[in-house]
Amino acid sequence: MVRQGRVVFSSSGHLNRAGAQQANAVHSPISGLKGGVNRLLREAAASLFNTLFPGECRLCGEALINVSRLPVCRTCLNGVKPLSGSFCSLCGEQVFAFGQQPTAAICGMCRRATPPFARAVAFGSYDGELRGVLHLLKYGQVRPAAGLLGEYLANTIQQIQPAFSGASPIVVPVPLYRGKRRQRGFNQAELIARVALKRLAARGVKLEIKPRLLKRQRATSSQTGLTRHQRRANLRGAFVVKDRAAIDGRDILVVDDVFTTGTTVSECSRLLMRAGARRVFVVTVARVLKGDVNKIQQNTAVVQKMAAAS
Ligand SMILES: [Zn+2]
Ligand SMILES: [Zn+2]
Repeated sequence: MVRQGRVVFSSSGHLNRAGAQQANAVHSPISGLKGGVNRLLREAAASLFNTLFPGECRLCGEALINVSRLPVCRTCLNGVKPLSGSFCSLCGEQVFAFGQQPTAAICGMCRRATPPFARAVAFGSYDGELRGVLHLLKYGQVRPAAGLLGEYLANTIQQIQPAFSGASPIVVPVPLYRGKRRQRGFNQAELIARVALKRLAARGVKLEIKPRLLKRQRATSSQTGLTRHQRRANLRGAFVVKDRAAIDGRDILVVDDVFTTGTTVSECSRLLMRAGARRVFVVTVARVLKGDVNKIQQNTAVVQKMAAAS
């Protein structure tokens, strides 16, 4: 595996970085691949390359000293924190519920219009390092990021497990339009959901996944900058339920990477409920918290760090 004895493993199993760089200069596993090699093979090679020759943290640019398939340093990983505070018991938005039981809190939006899902929860805020790791998977093609994100999702699913009240829900990842999926090579929501289910199965929680229960039948333009009404209009007719018989009377757990405005998961939930679902729960890795005043500053800092690192 490691050629010419150039890469030295220390007693702790860590790569000697100087040795790795030398070996890299002489024989790069990536430079040896010809243009005709398909994307999957290139991705596998890149992943192997990161494992053999740790470079820089893709979030902060620090030199990596530990061998890992995920090119993110310990400091950045430790920066990922689960949500803490009071949240809307329906949609998961941050609420400032002084003197109220956190479970009883319902945000202004949900008071005005009850969402079609029974409950939406997220692992963390769509900020800082968590946003960085999500971007590595989605835009940086760093598939090992799904391992970490799936772990977060598994923990969040376990948190709301008591709400399932004994009936095991069917897990449905938010689908991508086939063109988008082909372009990216994977659906990040499905990838994360599959990892989470594996983690849960190891803890004795068995959930069934049906990734083709919902289908995205047309491409949709970006939701950014649209009003609430425009976002809903943009998604109208984008999804279709493929297997109504499988849904009838069942609880559904819709999984996505990010809950931004909730329009996408609401549209999926609406269709699933109309198709006969008993209840729909929504679990995402991250959530945009409107109440977080530090959000914009933190996001800018991470984008700058990522730009500097690449
Ligand atoms: Zn870092
Ligand atoms: Zn709410």
